[in-house]
Amino acid sequence: MKIDESAVWVFDLDDTIYPERDYQLSGYRYLANHLKELFQKDIFHEIMQADSSNQDVLDEICKALSLPIATKESLIWMYRLHVPDIKLTNDVTQILDEIRTNYSLAIITDGRAVSQRNKVKALGLGGIDILISEEWGEVKPGKRRFKELENRYLESKQFIYVGDNIKKDFITPNEMGWLTIGVKDKGFNIHSQDVNLVKSAYLPKMWIDSFSELRDFLC
Ligand SMILES: [Mg+2]
Repeated sequence: MKIDESAVWVFDLDDTIYPERDYQLSGYRYLANHLKELFQKDIFHEIMQADSSNQDVLDEICKALSLPIATKESLIWMYRLHVPDIKLTNDVTQILDEIRTNYSLAIITDGRAVSQRNKVKALGLGGIDILISEEWGEVKPGKRRFKELENRYLESKQFIYVGDNIKKDFITPNEMGWLTIGVKDKGFNIHSQDVNLVKSAYLPKMWIDSFSELRDFLC
């Protein structure tokens, strides 16, 4: 199926355009490096150990550095505000470039303004229209940002949302008659894609195994 060039492609960010696990790992490396400078102790091993045994990583950092638990608050903000070391794959870069050239392109993502903008900047997507929940006072599946894009592109007849989270990504664009495309989890996603957990209205109209399959839709 080819998508007409008048369409507007809208993407989720985390676990759609890049793996959110990469962001987590970048945050851990940042914390380890920065705390090593401040406390002269390398705790990267303890961080990864806590992560792999599903312990609270920040609690374990406080323990490893003998810090009061109240310090956790500062660690959370260090993590949230760090400029991540994350990259797009060549395939994703090429496809987004093609979409940027031939169609309209935007991102609707949930999260904090600074964290999400740091991610987008690190991924080299700084120029793209991005609608972040914290800046709009509404998370998905809220309608406001989807409606906003319909209003910005009044002349467009087709809107597409590409996401990964079946609990909140697709229900609203489905209701609004958008084409919805789900990118299948490769096993590292933060949110489950167990389709038995939700009603069919929450599911994307189409699934793709990998982002590169979007190439089949482009003119
Ligand atoms: Mg996502």
